[in-house]
Amino acid sequence: MPRIVIPKVFVLAETMVVSAGLGAFLQSGLGVEGWESDAESPAELLTEVAGKSCYLSFDKSLNKNLTRTGTRTNHEYIQEQIIKMRHGSVLEHATVTFAFVDVSRVFTHELVRHRAGTAFSQVSGRYVRSDDIGYFLPKVIADRPEAAGIFEEAFKTMEDWAADLARSVDIDNMKDFSLKKTLTSAFRRLIGNGQSNHIIFTANHRALRHIIHMRTSRGAEEEIRHVFAEVYRLCLARYPAIYSDALVTLVGGINEVSFAGHV
Ligand SMILES: Cc1cc2nc3c(=O)[nH]c(=O)nc-3n(C[C@H](O)[C@H](O)[C@H](O)COP(=O)(O)OP(=O)(O)OC[C@H]3O[C@@H](n4cnc5c(N)ncnc54)[C@H](O)[C@@H]3O)c2cc1C
Repeated sequence: MPRIVIPKVFVLAETMVVSAGLGAFLQSGLGVEGWESDAESPAELLTEVAGKSCYLSFDKSLNKNLTRTGTRTNHEYIQEQIIKMRHGSVLEHATVTFAFVDVSRVFTHELVRHRAGTAFSQVSGRYVRSDDIGYFLPKVIADRPEAAGIFEEAFKTMEDWAADLARSVDIDNMKDFSLKKTLTSAFRRLIGNGQSNHIIFTANHRALRHIIHMRTSRGAEEEIRHVFAEVYRLCLARYPAIYSDALVTLVGGINEVSFAGHV
């Protein structure tokens, strides 16, 4: 039987800093002595280092044009010197990898439109059979019992078609893997975009700020708004210096997250 699913977001990986390499770069590469950061995460540390390496602003001795250094926290530096000054490229060094599970192919098609600073690995509809269908039920349908019933019936019909097709060619006992793959790919054409699947998604922080802004906006689809509101919540907790300038408004029960200082 088809199942109603709720999208899930998992943080799989994030940028780390190699302390020995960073220390050697600062000391023997640039001649920086005794510099320290109060960054709360490697992503924020790397962002600060990358930014400060541009103006050699670790201390006054490195750049005679500077009259004042070391007065700002990592949080203040990223917000005031990187984000407010629109030096968004500095936010591209650090990345985060998420797994989105129980998301529809409607969602993943929208997601992969974001090309700049992103990477994707999605479950293969050619190799993996669509015979156990989960689906997200949009609120606008859930609120209307007759429509919700039609949704359920439609997904059940799709599952039945997939099972009938599999039986018709006896795919379970087929030895020819190449033919199996070709048939699996052909079967999926009968399954709607609403079927749930999963995707692994990596983005740098500049791209992520942009995508959170676009995809939590009130004009975006409910499912993707739900996922990126959660992405924002996780990012704010992990990298407050990079995400704390957001304006958050509850719209239709989901946070709309906008970055006025779009960089
Ligand atoms: C509410 C909503 C409704 C939408 N409706 C539709 C629709 O009806 N039809 C449709 O086809 N799409 C639609 N889209 C998708 C939209 O048009 C974009 O393709 C998608 O949001 C990706 O965003 P992006 O173009 O900013 O790309 P990203 O890859 O996220 O790029 C980020 C930024 O980098 C820059 N950039 C990226 N690539 C290039 C490039 N090649 N050249 C120059 N600059 C670049 C741009 O400044 C861009 O904004 C919709 C999106 C939203 C949020």
